[in-house]
Amino acid sequence: MNFSSKLLENAVAEFAKLPGVGQKTALRLVLHLLNQDKPDVERFSHAISKLRNEIQFCRVCHNISDLQVCEICASPKRDHSLICVVEDTRDVMAIQNTDQYNGVYHVLGGLISPMDGIGPSDLQVDTLVERLKGNDVKEVIFALSATMEGDTTIFYLHKKLKDFNINISTIARGIAFGGELEYVDEVTLGRSIVTRVPYENSLSK
Ligand SMILES: [Zn+2]
Repeated sequence: MNFSSKLLENAVAEFAKLPGVGQKTALRLVLHLLNQDKPDVERFSHAISKLRNEIQFCRVCHNISDLQVCEICASPKRDHSLICVVEDTRDVMAIQNTDQYNGVYHVLGGLISPMDGIGPSDLQVDTLVERLKGNDVKEVIFALSATMEGDTTIFYLHKKLKDFNINISTIARGIAFGGELEYVDEVTLGRSIVTRVPYENSLSK
């Protein structure tokens, strides 16, 4: 692409770094912003820099939060004896949207993937183990995608957690998830949480 302006070229180059955004789309977005009122564009860039600078991760569950402890972990209305283990914040949002779950969460921050060089130490595993050391937790539910990485992660975590006196369950693994939890429709996801099965039973299928 030949740009008539270095400023234009720089902005396009930044947008083109976003996932799924090619040069053409980046140019279209940048030209769109140029057509907006200046205060609107200010608000746009301010929201992004504020997000990056001020966002926190809940120190209990590691979900993205505006506070040190997120609203879910801080809520006395939630069942803190029930921890749902998920890959990332999109899964928390998807499960919250089902209105079928009233426990708390633990966000791993990824899945074990030897191919990508992601091992257990890259994930929030130790803090999950710490959370189980009190006697308050009765059940851990794995809600991870039905992929090789999801299965590997559950297998690993199960080994780590099995000596605690808790129930370990998993959302129905037989359902065709199409990969990521966030793409499952709310009814299916909600039902799979309600009808979760003990992890051992899920293996014998
Ligand atoms: Zn939290």
